[in-house]
Amino acid sequence: MTAPDIAFLDRDGTINVRRVGGYVDDPADVELLPGAAAAIARLNAAGARVVVVTNQRGLATGRLEWAAYERVTAQLVDLLAAEGAHLDAIRVCPHDHDQCVCRKPADGLFRDELVAQPWARPQWCVMVGDMPSDVAPARGLGMTAYELGVDVPDLAAAVDRILAGQ
Ligand SMILES: [Mg+2]
Ligand SMILES: [Zn+2]
Repeated sequence: MTAPDIAFLDRDGTINVRRVGGYVDDPADVELLPGAAAAIARLNAAGARVVVVTNQRGLATGRLEWAAYERVTAQLVDLLAAEGAHLDAIRVCPHDHDQCVCRKPADGLFRDELVAQPWARPQWCVMVGDMPSDVAPARGLGMTAYELGVDVPDLAAAVDRILAGQ
């Protein structure tokens, strides 16, 4: 088993069900995708640091309040904990388009984490997400990245590949 230094994970559409046409802004809207919690628990057990990197543009436009975002985050953490999984950090871009260096596909969320964890080697980090904008910044930094629906069907399959060193 080969554990990555850091496993970066997108949130909506990767860990939990993406809400089409809206933001996940209510704890009741947080629904884990099948197998996602177990997959994260496997990364935890392998010794990988697990970090969520998520764009939440609604925080900039006012369609998503910070308090609602925090409630959603707490619910996500609780649902994962119920299945023995945890996140080591959550990095969020709360900005609108073209206003920052962290909204994916920019790589600021990844860079900030690498600065905070100087032991982590980018080539030993991985990213899993459901959009081209998730995998592009990771690949640009030399990471292996898995796009759901393209490279693998879901997070569980990505973690199979990651822990097999593929
Ligand atoms: Mg997504
Ligand atoms: Zn940003």
